[in-house]
Amino acid sequence: MADLGPVRVRFAPSPTGYLHVGGARTALYNFLFARKHGGQFLLRIEDTDRTRYVPDSVQDIMESLRWLGIEWDEGPDKGGPVGPYVQSERVEIYRKLAHQLVETGHAYRCFCTPERLQQLRELQRKMGLRTGYDRRCRNLSPEEIEKNLAEGKPYVIRLKVPLEGETVFQDYLRGEIRYDNRELEDIILLKSDGFPTYHLANVIDDHLMQITHVLRADEWIPSTPYHVLLYRAFGWEPPVFAHLPVILSPDGKGKLSKRHGATAVREFREQGYLPEALVNFLALLGWSPGDDREILSLDEMIQAFDLKRVGKRGAVFDYQKLQWMNGEYIRRLPPEELYRRALPFMERAGLVKTPEDREKFRKIVPLLQERVKTLGEFPYAAEYFFREVETYDEKGLKKHLKNPEILDHLAELRNRLAALETFDKDSIEQTLRGLAQELGIGAGKLIHPTRLALTGRTFGPGLFELMEVLGKETCIRRLDRFIEKFRHAS
Ligand code: GLU
Repeated sequence: MADLGPVRVRFAPSPTGYLHVGGARTALYNFLFARKHGGQFLLRIEDTDRTRYVPDSVQDIMESLRWLGIEWDEGPDKGGPVGPYVQSERVEIYRKLAHQLVETGHAYRCFCTPERLQQLRELQRKMGLRTGYDRRCRNLSPEEIEKNLAEGKPYVIRLKVPLEGETVFQDYLRGEIRYDNRELEDIILLKSDGFPTYHLANVIDDHLMQITHVLRADEWIPSTPYHVLLYRAFGWEPPVFAHLPVILSPDGKGKLSKRHGATAVREFREQGYLPEALVNFLALLGWSPGDDREILSLDEMIQAFDLKRVGKRGAVFDYQKLQWMNGEYIRRLPPEELYRRALPFMERAGLVKTPEDREKFRKIVPLLQERVKTLGEFPYAAEYFFREVETYDEKGLKKHLKNPEILDHLAELRNRLAALETFDKDSIEQTLRGLAQELGIGAGKLIHPTRLALTGRTFGPGLFELMEVLGKETCIRRLDRFIEKFRHAS
């Protein structure tokens, strides 16, 4: 085998659904580690469990990773020196090597039927014993095996786990981890349909693909003793294992799950999170650059990444922090870029349809840039620029209509605005402030009711900018409508 490089890592998802943020974080750490050390990052699809296969998920996994900026060097669509990178295309390799383990005495054929295993499990359960295979086929005589094979009995191949002693390995983050071999089972390596199990395929591929470091979720710790035994059985050097901390729900009480909110990368994308914000947030779920920086670009993360700084304790997924961070990233975008990214959200909401709508939206974006935390907030935040105001904030109405003169004031403002030659934020501001002064009232006493009349809301971007974008005609019309409506009501 050619020597491929000092650091080779992989992300090895099973295509059982959309890419979860936990998977994305695993991929990210692998990617950062590879880039940091000038190594390679591989994408390998572990699709040998056909019962859990979800057709679109490979597509989703690749799209989501690319959207986040996590690009692999070798993978299913790219090829590479140790492909194919999809396990279902490698079944022959696993089959051959499983049989090799039988030959060398590290594994054995098990002819037990599913019915027998079922009965065994039930019996064990009834007796309060740990369930698991009772190793009945571990010591079949060569004659018995020959006979079964001659009869064409289906079989699986199981690993011959040592009956005594311990299996010990080093976890890069957690130190030594020990398993009593009596607690381990003779796990299946090759199923009766000739497909490998996760354990077999995973170990073979990590070896053949020359993976140097396995960075994966900590739920795989209990699988690792089996992997270590497999490496030993094959006579191969195991990679370095580093099990990443679990991602916890916002309350820190359990694993993050759908109950707590979005969990798939795609969902965050659809809600209008920016990839650079999400990837930044994910990087800090269990790792820190060692200083107080919180906003880091992918390049800065690569620079700062150090596997030693990955924690062991679970990392809480704080949706509010993610939102805050996304807002930070939104504010840092050039307005034109923000416009480009927010536009699809406006179009999907049916608010922006024509070239004129687009031009208008381009002017609105800077007004809202400070106010939104996700792109998904744009349609609501910008709605009144594109649709007539049908309802008015109840509390706002109560507050402002209390003043018996307010409608007269608004009517006067309306007339002065109508007389303006140029309708821009400065002339609007002068007009409104001038009127407030003449009336002997604070400008706020006019600003807030005007905002309510024009937008239906009690808060939003600066009123004068907003009015300039709305345009004279719309402002006059909406003021008229408001005055009309509430004059009759009172
Ligand atoms: N296919 C496994 C998964 O879906 C890979 C685990 C590992 O990285 O070894 O998580």
